[in-house]
Amino acid sequence: MKDRFPGIAEATRLIKAGEASPTDLVRAAAERIAGIDGELNCFIGFDADAALAAAKVAEKEIAAGGARGALHGVPVALKDLFAVSGMPLTCGSRILENFVPGYDSGVAERLRRAGAVIIGKNNMDEFAMGSSNETSYFGAVKNPWDTARVPGGSSGGCAAAVAAEMCCGAVGTDTGGSIRQPAAFCGVVGMKPTYGRVSRFGMVAFASSLDQAGPLARSVEDAAILLGAISGFDEKDSTSRDTPAPDLLAELNGGVRGLKIAAPREYFNIGGMDGEVENCVREALKDMESLGAEIVDVSMPNTGYAVSAYYVIAPCEASSNLARYDGVRYGRRAGDAQSLEEMIVKSRSEGFGEEVKRRIMLGTHALSSGYYDAYYLKAQKVKTLITEEFYAAFEKADLIMTPTAPEAAFKLGEKTGDPIKMYLSDALTIPANIAGVPAISVPCGLTKSGLPIGAQIIGRRFDEQTVIRAARALESTGRFDGLRPAGI
Ligand code: GLN
Repeated sequence: MKDRFPGIAEATRLIKAGEASPTDLVRAAAERIAGIDGELNCFIGFDADAALAAAKVAEKEIAAGGARGALHGVPVALKDLFAVSGMPLTCGSRILENFVPGYDSGVAERLRRAGAVIIGKNNMDEFAMGSSNETSYFGAVKNPWDTARVPGGSSGGCAAAVAAEMCCGAVGTDTGGSIRQPAAFCGVVGMKPTYGRVSRFGMVAFASSLDQAGPLARSVEDAAILLGAISGFDEKDSTSRDTPAPDLLAELNGGVRGLKIAAPREYFNIGGMDGEVENCVREALKDMESLGAEIVDVSMPNTGYAVSAYYVIAPCEASSNLARYDGVRYGRRAGDAQSLEEMIVKSRSEGFGEEVKRRIMLGTHALSSGYYDAYYLKAQKVKTLITEEFYAAFEKADLIMTPTAPEAAFKLGEKTGDPIKMYLSDALTIPANIAGVPAISVPCGLTKSGLPIGAQIIGRRFDEQTVIRAARALESTGRFDGLRPAGI
């Protein structure tokens, strides 16, 4: 711990060897947060005393000879849309400014079971709607590699906190790319598991058929440990998969020899693709080939329709999910209203930001009588076509490898005036959400101006092991070894 705040595997090793206690780790995290988070703004909620108290409990358990699980005593952070009993939950929104849940989400419960110390809640785009973390009511998050740039979104607070070493790992959510894109922008590993792998219970819903929680971490191994801890069936989530979670570490170093990897051209020639990003990922593909993978030719012509389908499906589901924030049941209630209707209108008008309102209006319009068939039903049909295209691709290949995002981190304010430009930032990540398949982003190089580039590896449904194995192989080529934000 002398030179560097540890990641998950390293923290566990330090604790087991008696070289650092959970309290030491939480203290170190608190110091880092106090030192740099004023500038980066990665945390909405951080209570050092509560975190230290949780660390002390973990420490006593170790002294008594028992560790709860794979994350015992390890400080992790959660995107501020997971319910953690007694901790404020804002979802990056004014409307939930003062909301404190009285129960644990499935993710928080599993983290506790694994022994993790939940140190705080990460900043995020409001209701997870965004690609830059600029829609948060609590202010933008800055990218630790260049504070004039965005960290990506919507789990930008998680990605920046992990990159800036303020926690050992974090759990975010990904509806259209919100784990992978910020992971790519901040030079960390981020994985969206198969839909149904991780419980959505107690996670604020954005688009329920697409939302999935997953890890952001410093290495593929760390991501695998964290994902292993939060995976598994939850009877409180009807879409959670009723099969035991696989042992993600068992094949970690199994390599890619004999695996077939597709690099569909539709993921490389989309508009706005930056040449440096494309070249870097193509070189990473060559590395995979030299490790024994076979690169196969697969075409996925429906890829280009994913963004359009997503921006119907996600706003439709959001408009329905967000109907519950009415100033009565949850959150902030506007004052001085003369009638119930006025109170609801005022509470929602004051409580939601511009992007959230835009999505609610888009979704309400697309679901309204006469438009449902033209938009929502059509988008669902496109979803089926895209999903089938993935299944067909996985007949020919074991994995698909692409850039995670068309470009590296952009400047703060660069896309806020143009929602469509912002939406296209997720063009390469959205298809995996539409098809429900697992996908990871692994850092694979830097641009000339020193910004991280991420490669995305997509796998078959519930085949997280192979995705993680390939991600580890890519990481082991050393393309990103020793790279970290300057001054951190
Ligand atoms: N950026 C996309 C959006 O704004 C994806 C967000 C997400 O994955 N939560 O909807």
